[in-house]
Amino acid sequence: MSNRGRARHNPPERGRGSRHLGPGTRFRAGRGRSGWVQWSVPLVLVLVVVAVSLWGVTRPAESTSPVGDPPARAAGSHGAGGSSGVAAPRIFVSLTFDDGTTTQNLAGRVLHAHGMHGTFYVNTGKTEAKDPYHMNWPQILRLHAEGNDIGGHTSTHINLTDPAIPEPVKRQEVCQDRERLQQRGLDPQSFAYPFGAFDNTAKAIVESCGYRSARSAGTVFPDGPVFAETVPPADPFATRALNNPAKDARTGQAAGGGEGSLGSPMDLAYLQRAVVSVADHGGGWLQVVFHVICSQKDPRYATCMTGQAPIDLETFDAFLDWLQNSAPDGTSVSTVREVMNMNAAR
Ligand SMILES: [Zn+2]
Repeated sequence: MSNRGRARHNPPERGRGSRHLGPGTRFRAGRGRSGWVQWSVPLVLVLVVVAVSLWGVTRPAESTSPVGDPPARAAGSHGAGGSSGVAAPRIFVSLTFDDGTTTQNLAGRVLHAHGMHGTFYVNTGKTEAKDPYHMNWPQILRLHAEGNDIGGHTSTHINLTDPAIPEPVKRQEVCQDRERLQQRGLDPQSFAYPFGAFDNTAKAIVESCGYRSARSAGTVFPDGPVFAETVPPADPFATRALNNPAKDARTGQAAGGGEGSLGSPMDLAYLQRAVVSVADHGGGWLQVVFHVICSQKDPRYATCMTGQAPIDLETFDAFLDWLQNSAPDGTSVSTVREVMNMNAAR
């Protein structure tokens, strides 16, 4: 993108340069005054005409293709706000999935059917251990092949703020998880903190392992005070995400980030309200966090719906339909990686 930008600006610069080089050097090379006047008048006229026409040719190119649009479009579900003037705010929705649970294969299929992509944060230690609750490598690689963003979530889902865990172990958990993904041919750039928990040490570890962003959890609310993350985020290693409304089944209290919370499935009205609220407050980036996706066709549906921050598959499908067809103008679905790359291009 930056190359194209530079090329676009080259012609006028070259035009200006040649005006200095051409007649100026010849004059000094020893022609008489009258000779210079004879030559210079038509030459300057020609150069002015050339410069003006070059300027005219290059200008339309400069006014098109604002930086940041192509990724949003490519990911695009909606994109109505892309070309419709300045008024409509842009709302970037990222559908993110923590823990790489096997039920997320269902989400992958629904995303694919909608031509959308999500960001899946996996615990590769669980995958290596062939834990049946977590996706295996072929499943993860299939999600990647379909265009989804695969990110890290530590090897075995440790709490990076736990004072009982030594720092080298924390580093190993983050870096080794990323290395395993790289060994499978992936280029993981996005990280999510297990339990949404982070401190300055955790942030430094994640950055030093090579990630470009890290998502927290539970600090964006449809009723504010924070309605969305900004683009670019204030802190790429503490990006904010929508609070999961699930209540902890044991205590009945709001479960904060949603990690480890049980019961109280995510409902469609809440998700829609969160997106509309972003649009009503000037736009921005809404990261939604999913854990288990429960199909009514699955005999374990009832158990699934009492699992971690669950969502019914049909509700998830309906949310994607709504994003595609009925969300506020300017809404698009982008992976975390895409939103972060928009920032880099700016
Ligand atoms: Zn998690």
